[in-house]
Amino acid sequence: MSDLIRKDLNESLVEEIEALEAILSEEDELDLNLISGSNNLQITTRITPLTASDTSRQYVGLYLKIVVDKNLYPEEQSPKQIDLFQVRGLEEKQVRSLTKILQDLCDDPGPVLYTLMDACREYLTEHNYPTCPCSICQYHIVQEDSFVKTPCFHYFHSACFGRYLNVFKPISDEYEDDFSVHGPKSKPKKAENVLPCPVCREDMPKELWNIQTLLKEQDGTLQSNEANTGVFVKTRSLQKLQRKMTVLYEKQKEKGALVQNNFSS
Ligand SMILES: [Zn+2]
Ligand SMILES: [Zn+2]
Repeated sequence: MSDLIRKDLNESLVEEIEALEAILSEEDELDLNLISGSNNLQITTRITPLTASDTSRQYVGLYLKIVVDKNLYPEEQSPKQIDLFQVRGLEEKQVRSLTKILQDLCDDPGPVLYTLMDACREYLTEHNYPTCPCSICQYHIVQEDSFVKTPCFHYFHSACFGRYLNVFKPISDEYEDDFSVHGPKSKPKKAENVLPCPVCREDMPKELWNIQTLLKEQDGTLQSNEANTGVFVKTRSLQKLQRKMTVLYEKQKEKGALVQNNFSS
């Protein structure tokens, strides 16, 4: 915490933040920001699930933003605002339920910053698998699906991502659409081996994936969330028809001739 920020905060808040700084590591990206024109201190931090620092096994992640009053928090007032942003891997429903958990922890005044961060981490650890929709086909990723995780924590079905890789070609003029700042011709063409994430456009090395392997996954068919999609279902009316046809067949065999339509009466 810089001295500039420290001199502006009440003593209990300084103590709580110093304790946080001692616990958190650099990867947690703790950031303190005094909002000018108000008494608000904005505290943001990155939260990841506990996977023993094995980032390849981290499928979810988010940033937590807590806004507190620099004079009144923690003794007289609980946090004013809690926001989750840059959420990766979780679906809307889960973000809402985690937000509710965090808000419930702020019912009474008291130092709660670490408790909130810990609750987020615990939630992410319990939900460390992608349940969001694939951003290409919009079907949710289900457990049986073969999927791709980008370094920026975006998720796609392997086959969907394989098709994207297959057709993607960097085009300098169309690659970035923010013409207002640089003008349409000033963007350099990206290197051939660089691929932008289809969701956030973060550059990724193309060689992280093998197109052919991806395209072969699930034989190119997309899995929907609904059960039995594309599966032959023997309905009751079909079973009834089959029974009727069996009777008809037996009668035909017996008589060695065509049977009248009223055979069943
Ligand atoms: Zn997909
Ligand atoms: Zn991305």
